[in-house]
Amino acid sequence: MDTLYLEEELVLNKAERLLSEKEIFTREEYSEVYEEYKKLLRQMKTLVKVADLTQLELKTLSEELSKVSRMDGLTELYNRRYFRELYSQEWQMAMQENSVLSLLMIDIDNFKKYNDTYGHLQGDVCLKEAAAVFRREAEKAGALVARFGGEEFVMLLPGADCRAAEQVAENLNKSMEKLNLIHPQTAVQTHVTISIGIASARPEKAGDFQLLMDEADRALYQAKADGRNCYRIFQRGSEK
Ligand code: GH3
Ligand code: MG
Ligand code: MG
Repeated sequence: MDTLYLEEELVLNKAERLLSEKEIFTREEYSEVYEEYKKLLRQMKTLVKVADLTQLELKTLSEELSKVSRMDGLTELYNRRYFRELYSQEWQMAMQENSVLSLLMIDIDNFKKYNDTYGHLQGDVCLKEAAAVFRREAEKAGALVARFGGEEFVMLLPGADCRAAEQVAENLNKSMEKLNLIHPQTAVQTHVTISIGIASARPEKAGDFQLLMDEADRALYQAKADGRNCYRIFQRGSEK
């Protein structure tokens, strides 16, 4: 950085020396200093441009970085960490407005068999296509969707009661059927299917948002136990 001002210092020293040595300057001496200052001014303008560009690049980079930290790299859905952030905000909002919300835990069925048959790369393609379906359905329903990890996804429906969530789950199952990704045949399926666990609540306590996740997870477990390719609703009061 110091060298940037080296020339400017030289010009200044020269001007100082001239001033201390002489009382009267010739036209040539004036124009010499004038030309040097003109050169310096051009250099300063270039420097300001470079600084502006660097600032812009830094801003773009930091925006890029914050986007990447919120996204799942494979599916380009939100990741689990960012989802939790959004979920806790929605939970707070629902508490203030005394409104309901619903959670859907979605898990691809027999995905290990899919991977084992078609390979991990094709498995990735399958995850991306399923994620695109979830994104479309979430947009239609005004929901937030994220990749929770592996072949598991989560959808948050602010303002939706259990019936509304059930409708979204039905649409998801139908859309997967329409997508018709071929699956190595098992007893229950010919295409890639999903199981869904639903839980709904009217939030009352700030710390309770993890509870609803556990409930949706238990409903998902039930859907798997009942044969997959279906959804189950968590019924409060029927817990064992
Ligand atoms: P279930 O119907 O009970 O959910 O059975 P499943 O086979 O889907 O469940 P399991 O937990 O046995 O297997 C999940 C598989 O998902 C195993 C793992 O290799 C695969 N998987 C997890 N993440 C990825 C990924 O990013 N890409 C690919 N291709 N596979 C993944
Ligand atoms: Mg699975
Ligand atoms: Mg799973």
